[in-house]
Amino acid sequence: MDFIEAKKKYDEITKKLERYSYEYYVLDNPSVEDYVYDQGMEELLRLEKEFPQLVTRNSLSQRVGGTVLKGFKKVTHERQMLSLADVFNKEELTDWVNKIYETLGKEVDFTAEMKIDGLACSLVYNDNHLSYCATRGDGTTGEDVTTNVLTIKDIPTIVDKIGRLEVRGEIYMPKASLEQLNKEREITGEPLFANARNAAAGSIRNLDSSIAKKRNLDGWWYYYIDAERDGFTRHSDSINALDKLGFRTNPERRVVHNLKEVLDYVDEYTLKRDDLPYDIDGIVLKVDEFKYYDELGYTAKSPKRAIAYKFPPKEVQTKLEDIVFTVGRTGKITPNAVLEPVRVAGSLVARATLHNEDYILEKGLRIGDTVIIRKAGDIIPEVVKPLIEKRDGSEIPFKMIDKCPYCGNELTKIDAMHFCLNPNCPSRRIESLIHFTSKNAMDIEGMGDKVCEQLFGENFISDIPSIYKLYEHKDEIIAMDGWSNKSVTNLLDAIENSKKNSLERLIFGLGIKEVGEKMSKVLARRYKSLDELSRQTIDDLLKIDDVGEVVAKSIFNYFQNETNIELIERLKNSNVNMLYLGKDDINETNFFYNKRCVITGTFDRYSRDEMTEFIESQGGKVSGSVSKKTDYVLVGENPGSKETKAKELGVTILNEESYYDIVDKNKEGE
Ligand code: NAD
Repeated sequence: MDFIEAKKKYDEITKKLERYSYEYYVLDNPSVEDYVYDQGMEELLRLEKEFPQLVTRNSLSQRVGGTVLKGFKKVTHERQMLSLADVFNKEELTDWVNKIYETLGKEVDFTAEMKIDGLACSLVYNDNHLSYCATRGDGTTGEDVTTNVLTIKDIPTIVDKIGRLEVRGEIYMPKASLEQLNKEREITGEPLFANARNAAAGSIRNLDSSIAKKRNLDGWWYYYIDAERDGFTRHSDSINALDKLGFRTNPERRVVHNLKEVLDYVDEYTLKRDDLPYDIDGIVLKVDEFKYYDELGYTAKSPKRAIAYKFPPKEVQTKLEDIVFTVGRTGKITPNAVLEPVRVAGSLVARATLHNEDYILEKGLRIGDTVIIRKAGDIIPEVVKPLIEKRDGSEIPFKMIDKCPYCGNELTKIDAMHFCLNPNCPSRRIESLIHFTSKNAMDIEGMGDKVCEQLFGENFISDIPSIYKLYEHKDEIIAMDGWSNKSVTNLLDAIENSKKNSLERLIFGLGIKEVGEKMSKVLARRYKSLDELSRQTIDDLLKIDDVGEVVAKSIFNYFQNETNIELIERLKNSNVNMLYLGKDDINETNFFYNKRCVITGTFDRYSRDEMTEFIESQGGKVSGSVSKKTDYVLVGENPGSKETKAKELGVTILNEESYYDIVDKNKEGE
């Protein structure tokens, strides 16, 4: 790879990681597992090693992640709150330990500790009394979260210490509290917290302290700033002293004396971590004696005397209770594992896709098996394998069905997949409606799975074009349980608005076999209208990069089919737009891409129209009312009840500063 290529790659990774960091540190709402972020960071560091000229002061490798939320008082840390360098396996950990030995010219002791998955905070006391508590923020400036932290009962407000005392640690949410909280949120229909770290951070960094009070948070305190000034020579002794002063210190900590003890500790807690009542995402090792600290020094964002060993993605065991089948909009039959609900990497998993018959047979899964589940790489759970040694003979070998579970039609096997080819299979038609109205297709707000099923069941809609005739049933829908004049009007407005969507959404929404979201964009950009696309021959289509025989045939066949020709004609008669309207720079790297936003209050720098234009130019949508499907509520000065509603529903709030940040970042990227 030459420098130009490396720089391009580096910028791409940086942009992606900055977005993840923003979701993680500012919104407390990550869209990917930590493992994905860590892999990106590793790649970034690899590039920096090969091309050191890529590194600037602003590089992610040189900065402590995190920002300060508007609304909180800012606190400048007297001593920077740094991050930790990471290692991801025992070989890297061994190298790190050996490097410390080498630098210091001898073997030294380490304190091994739990790496608590929470929010780093600093407590500052003056002459016995708690003065304030601050978050890490960007390492230099944090948020004053004292009011919220004081809702945690075990935090001492008075300590037996004259002068200044600063104690750092982690505020976290115990596993049981998170489970309870998510159960409650499930009932009220609020989005679930992805993990304990986000739940803790979201509670502490909330301007409403009654939230933190309800959330059963706790703290573990692992760092006595100025311990050396106060006469201590070892980190472990200083933590014992904190314990005596009344701080909760973690009982699993241990002084380890050599590499073997380090690795044994890691093994021990790799096994024990599930039994702990709180989440840990690794082990922290710290050189124990303070006298070596200066010699070891610092990198831009972490002290070299400590390291975080991160656990590999988590695997857990559970029971495969059943295998059930769903029929997709193309008639594809997908087997799904019904699992005894189990917590994996912070969330409850009860279902996992098993893809197809071959996948199940290759793994040798039987109903009743104990299986290993993991969430690697992303948030989608995966069944890894059965534990054959745990079988007792009662397990039932898997047999693929040969008839559609909905219409009884004989299934057809194409490659590894089974299909129900009955175009009138009820499940298939509902699925095609759900797909057409879904967020990534025509994005009709208010028309989710349940509503599609209900309207289909009542015969108000039967196929895609009938959605645009739903207004004929307005009065009948209003009369149904759970509907009002307002909700029906909103739904009909959303349907009407969807007529203006750009072509790629329509192509994707039609559900042409083999044509996903990305391919829909390629086709829309190239042919600009559905008519033009429908005129292409297989040979024409094969000229497009990424289009092979199967895709070309599928597109061609779709437009030859009488039912489809009639369907498109009916959509045209309803004035559904069939032209490409998009700008070529709308893509998933945009912050608001595919996000549904609501604006409330006034913003200093931009008018509402300008903001709407910006969000739409990024591929997002602005709507007038907050619902569970809203992704962001943008809150300016004097916001209305929409802010309260957003809080009630747990919708992510973006304040003025966050919004300006996004606009500025977008300008920088241009
Ligand atoms: P880190 O979480 O890897 O390690 C540093 C932090 O560990 C400290 O600031 C402290 O808060 C904490 N810690 C817990 N127990 C500790 C102990 N006993 N002693 C000392 N510190 C302890 O670093 P970071 O900078 O906070 O965050 C980076 C990590 O955040 C990444 O490795 C990634 O996993 C995650 N992240 C995830 C996303 C995402 O989108 N999922 C985005 C950004 C960052």
